[in-house]
Amino acid sequence: MSVTEEKVKVRDEEEQDWEAAKAAFNNLKSKKPRPPKPSNAITIAVSSRTLFDMVEERKIYEEQGMEQYVSYNEKHESEPLKPGAAFPFVKALMTVNARLRKLYPDSEELFDIVLMTNNHAQVGVRLINSINHYDLLIERFCMTGGQSPVGYLKAYLTNLYLSKDSGKVKEAIEEGIAAATLFTPDKRMELSETQLRVAFDGDAVLFSDESEIIVKQQGLDEFFAHEKANVNTPLAQGPLKCFLEALGKLQRKFYSKNERLNCPIRTFLVTARSAASSGARVLKTLRSWGLEIDEALFLAGAPKGPLLEKIRPHIFFDDQMFHVEGATELGTIAAHVPYGIGQKYHKGKLIEKVEGKKQ
Ligand SMILES: [Mg+2]
Repeated sequence: MSVTEEKVKVRDEEEQDWEAAKAAFNNLKSKKPRPPKPSNAITIAVSSRTLFDMVEERKIYEEQGMEQYVSYNEKHESEPLKPGAAFPFVKALMTVNARLRKLYPDSEELFDIVLMTNNHAQVGVRLINSINHYDLLIERFCMTGGQSPVGYLKAYLTNLYLSKDSGKVKEAIEEGIAAATLFTPDKRMELSETQLRVAFDGDAVLFSDESEIIVKQQGLDEFFAHEKANVNTPLAQGPLKCFLEALGKLQRKFYSKNERLNCPIRTFLVTARSAASSGARVLKTLRSWGLEIDEALFLAGAPKGPLLEKIRPHIFFDDQMFHVEGATELGTIAAHVPYGIGQKYHKGKLIEKVEGKKQ
């Protein structure tokens, strides 16, 4: 059997497994909506420390060790954990799902939220109790027992992975999975309860870092000239492009039911590029991909925080830590995408590597 035939066989078997599991599940009577099959769903994997605020618990783990941590959580089992940075985002995903289920009762094209955790099984009880306390529809748990989550992320065909652990996020990005390290804002803003709002940086997030390399290494004038000369050449895709694509797919489901003006998903591009000198290339790139963005904001180097405060997204993705910091200081939930040349710089300056010293 050739490699391709082997792959097709495995895929067919997997398909049969899913169908069998679904048939068995469908025979059970329940009012709860059923989790969709991963190949139909937009799978969002969140870690327990992004979904819930586990700062206190983490402190116990770090200062007193695993045994104390497990026993603390066992003792507080019936006490729900406080919402974490990903909580409003997850709630907003559920709002979109509720609208989709109404419009398309039989469709499995929905968000599916998977909890990724390397927590001890005993702590899992507290997590489950907390999920039930807040009425979150999370049926899939991955208790990785300290192992890398990448294998599971791939098995679930993950469309986005959010974690507090930048090492795991980096590993996921290297495997081609859209991923980001989530940061808790310094203050809390009121966020929409009827619309999921997602903001993306452009270079090294939706797009590759090919133009960012020119800014960093040759300066702005060279960059403007380069973007002008290449205005009709689409940029290569960046690590979060597939997630924007997935959002677009769901948005179109609302548009085709005449709900464009009432769409519960809104996307924003928040880029440091300036419109006149380098904006056309990104808009043309999006067009060449067949993707729409609802609002495009060209800041021409102005800080992003104040504008994000107006947009109030449930999540904002950027590859540069100083934009992430600027956003969280003003109350925006921001996620760092550890990809591209920007990782070697801070506020435009190359981070010097001290020999023999770990970065
Ligand atoms: Mg960028």
